[in-house]
Amino acid sequence: MHCPKCSSDDLKVLDTRAGKIASTRRRRECQGCGYRFSTIEEILREDLVVVKRDGRRESFDRTKLATGLRRAIAKRPIDAEQINGLLSQTLRQIESEFDSEVPSRAIADAIMLRLKNVDGVAWLRYASFYEDFMGISQFVEELVNLGGNKKGDKNGG
Ligand SMILES: [Zn+2]
Repeated sequence: MHCPKCSSDDLKVLDTRAGKIASTRRRRECQGCGYRFSTIEEILREDLVVVKRDGRRESFDRTKLATGLRRAIAKRPIDAEQINGLLSQTLRQIESEFDSEVPSRAIADAIMLRLKNVDGVAWLRYASFYEDFMGISQFVEELVNLGGNKKGDKNGG
């Protein structure tokens, strides 16, 4: 590991805290420039297998999941910490609900459920990557719900 500021690898751990389920948070200080930052270590389930819609299986890839999310939140006011939190929550849910094989749809659903609370636009983008999972009619219904929070109608004044 290197300092994000000066790239020195002379780092000191100031503080270690156990995070929620299977994660460890460490406060670090660069001995080169004094910069302080935190890292989160998580236990990765190497045995988790994703079952695609066509039945193909591939090993779970957190990076892939993160890439999809980053595409969805591009230019939205969401910070990396929020996205990491969302990813971690999703993974914990998946791990507690499934043993070793998890349908790709379940992962997408779990992510969308949380993303919807974070940012409607990012959620829509993410949902559109997976709209074939949801079926068009449900997707449209969700769209209507998203825009239907205003009271009254458009030609009121
Ligand atoms: Zn440094």
